[in-house]
Amino acid sequence: MINAVCTHGNKRITYSILTFQNLPESDIERYRQHLICFECGGKAYYRKKSIDGKAACFGSRYHENCNEGRSSPQREREVRHAVEVNKILSDSSEVIFDFFTSDSKKSGESKDRKPKSKQVSKGTTKSHTGTVNHTSMKILGMDKALNSLLRGSNLAESDTVITIDGKYPYKAKNLFVNFSDAKPADNSKDARPKMYWGTISHSDKELEWLNPSDCEDVGIPIKRHKEQILKSFNITEKRDLEGAGLIVFGKCFWNAQKNRKIIELWNADRIFISVVED
Ligand SMILES: [Zn+2]
Repeated sequence: MINAVCTHGNKRITYSILTFQNLPESDIERYRQHLICFECGGKAYYRKKSIDGKAACFGSRYHENCNEGRSSPQREREVRHAVEVNKILSDSSEVIFDFFTSDSKKSGESKDRKPKSKQVSKGTTKSHTGTVNHTSMKILGMDKALNSLLRGSNLAESDTVITIDGKYPYKAKNLFVNFSDAKPADNSKDARPKMYWGTISHSDKELEWLNPSDCEDVGIPIKRHKEQILKSFNITEKRDLEGAGLIVFGKCFWNAQKNRKIIELWNADRIFISVVED
């Protein structure tokens, strides 16, 4: 995208990438969470110039019926995952969530991960006639869930039951929450963990704090798990996080001043970051 529209302060100002990248740092930080595609209005991101010289750019993970949303292997994968997830939802009333199942390649994956189980595990169900059936339960992983949500799958509205850790059932529509819809508990103890998703606008300088594009009042601290997360997703600089898709399993609660919602990760394995593939 050569241009993006900034809606900060209820105004609409179109910026070219050249103008935007030359704004003072403080303006960039203020405006970057308010960028949309000038053609389709999809939420957009700004990526600064990379250390190795890739140009600054605008982009969006949300283009819809838009000439700017050019096809790429990443986009095709997301669309494919949305189709797959919609099929799973229409075929199954119950799905198992597996944090270790992944279709996307991750570089530098940490060695202490459990082996990936791509196998379909057997669930035992009793039919109404009393006979015991062994049915193949559908399995959903984080990358497929995120990709499908980014491409508007039915996951966010579905009544299908998604089971976490083999024993915690959630209706899909109650489990997957966009960052902008996060409802905080008063404190971390009262919060029920959910799967929060959206895209990253930018991080702080130390890559310890993620700011979603979808809203300004949510922050995701990753300091405690920083090393493992950056390594898992091959993230080396701030730019790698800009515009990335993000899904985390964690708790949402108010900070002490009650002016910011905090999403606290469950652990370093329950996060998936879909870095923009240029
Ligand atoms: Zn667009």
